[in-house]
Amino acid sequence: MAYGLQVGQDRHLKELFKRYREAIHHTGEAMQRLGVTEACTRCALEGMGSCCFAGVENNYDAVLLFINLFFGCELTESPEIAGKCLFVGKEGCKLVARHYYCLRFFCDELRAALGSAGVGCLNETIGRELGLGLELEHGLRQFWRRLQRDNFLAGRS
Ligand code: SF4
Ligand code: SF4
Repeated sequence: MAYGLQVGQDRHLKELFKRYREAIHHTGEAMQRLGVTEACTRCALEGMGSCCFAGVENNYDAVLLFINLFFGCELTESPEIAGKCLFVGKEGCKLVARHYYCLRFFCDELRAALGSAGVGCLNETIGRELGLGLELEHGLRQFWRRLQRDNFLAGRS
């Protein structure tokens, strides 16, 4: 992650960040409208069977965490709420860029509350978000590989 500062100056990556952020916003709006944000926040903070349990944070690799930092998220090393995922805060999930599991998992209760139309609507916007997220992750990995290669070659001359 030593090349983080240079990422913001790359036009292609900037565009990928922008498109991904817009897709995340779109999903967030749908989740608010359908009551998912409220239900899951309440469940994550109070529910014993919440899917935001300790250990889910291990799904997040350095690239996805870097993207969250880029979006302004504050990452901590110890959980704010004991026994829960490292990223649960008092107002719910603190991340902007979320892993496949966090977006795609709907428990039976939530599925029942949403109905098939609601689940379908969410799956559509989530699918777009995940696709753009993967595109950005791929772009970042390529960018860092290029920088490493150039630095390595420059160091030999
Ligand atoms: S999907 Fe279900 S179990 Fe997971 S946080 Fe939402 S309400 Fe809770
Ligand atoms: S990253 Fe967010 S949504 Fe995923 S388990 Fe942790 S708190 Fe829940």
